[in-house]
Amino acid sequence: MRTVLISGAGVAGATLAYWLDRRGLQPTVVEQDQAVRSSGNPVDVRVAVLPIAREMGILPALRDRATVATKLVIIGREGRPIARLRGPNSGGQKKGDRSEVEIARADLAAVLLEACRDLDIRFDDSIAELTQDPDGVDVRFRSGREQRFDLVIGADGVHSATRRMIFGSEDQFVRRLGMFVGTTTVGVDTDPVDNTAVQLYNAPGRLTAIHPGRGVQRVAFIFRRSPDLPFDHRDAAQHRQIICDHYATDGWLVPDLLELVRETDDLYFDAVSRIDLPRWSEGRVALVGDAASSISLLGDGSAKAILGAHTLAEELADSNDHRAAFRRYQSRHAPLISSARQVRIGASMLVPATGPGLAVRNQLARMAGMFVSSP
Ligand SMILES: Cc1cc2nc3c(=O)[nH]c(=O)nc-3n(C[C@H](O)[C@H](O)[C@H](O)COP(=O)(O)OP(=O)(O)OC[C@H]3O[C@@H](n4cnc5c(N)ncnc54)[C@H](O)[C@@H]3O)c2cc1C
Repeated sequence: MRTVLISGAGVAGATLAYWLDRRGLQPTVVEQDQAVRSSGNPVDVRVAVLPIAREMGILPALRDRATVATKLVIIGREGRPIARLRGPNSGGQKKGDRSEVEIARADLAAVLLEACRDLDIRFDDSIAELTQDPDGVDVRFRSGREQRFDLVIGADGVHSATRRMIFGSEDQFVRRLGMFVGTTTVGVDTDPVDNTAVQLYNAPGRLTAIHPGRGVQRVAFIFRRSPDLPFDHRDAAQHRQIICDHYATDGWLVPDLLELVRETDDLYFDAVSRIDLPRWSEGRVALVGDAASSISLLGDGSAKAILGAHTLAEELADSNDHRAAFRRYQSRHAPLISSARQVRIGASMLVPATGPGLAVRNQLARMAGMFVSSP
């Protein structure tokens, strides 16, 4: 049986492990964290992903944990709602078993991992070194353990260590798009109005969003800034400081939310980035999910990660020639990746850069809201 080491037990890694096992390969997953982290924005399980989720038997679990938001409420400068719009789960998409699911990223990752419960998943470890030859890949783990695999797949996210080991430093491939995202969970009910509403509060170039969930709410800080804002993606104290500095003058509930940011130990923060990598594999090592390609921000990075992992598993199962399988996987999946332009258009509505741009966005939202629901 061909053995495959997967680095990263996120969305792409868990999906890949499940499908490799099901198609007769032997996956091992190594994850640097000790468990699934709870931060992260809700993500969309898009229509194209539903057949994969259904075949995995996880659709009921995804629907059980779906977010409860049905509308978007735009909060004005005075801290009061100024427009209500149709939101996720509002019935605007196809109904019933064919409708999309909006779910917290952590819940999606947990459901996918649950589907892999019988597989070899090793938390709190990572690849320290890998050396490939024509017949296999020798891996030394941070824990000291050593093992040889037929193939290694990097599913270790936008700052992939696997990619660095194979192709070199990420500065060559990671293009920041001038936006940054911070997310954490809110344990208390901060919404005095309605827990089915995603609340959006903007200042020019900044958005604070509170997303209701089941039992917890999630807050996202999304802001524009020059792409060369210096930060270390491993330094949580620095992330806290950056968010608090950028939002120091904002009103509404923001001061209370910043208190939570100061206290939490589960904060996600990163630059919205695009990965420009001409080849997603080298020899017996390949990349999947954000490590290879995705643009994060508008919630479809996870759907693309699931699709890419499923395609990669199909190609590896269908051929013993891993090089040909890696090539076909890339040529099938690369056309699905969103462009930087699509992300910028979405971002211009979500986080208008200037005061006049924000006024126009709010006016458009008021007009659209009149046709959707009454306050
Ligand atoms: C905690 C968290 C919160 C997130 N929140 C958001 C968000 O709010 N908005 C957004 O747009 N995107 C967010 N993302 C990214 C989003 O999950 C991905 O864009 C998308 O789901 C694609 O998934 P992926 O599996 O390729 O990468 P990821 O979901 O990033 O998963 C990568 C996995 O690899 C693990 N890993 C990283 N390095 C190593 C290593 N060296 N060895 C072993 N394991 C490693 C990580 O811990 C993680 O479990 C978040 C990611 C994480 C990990």
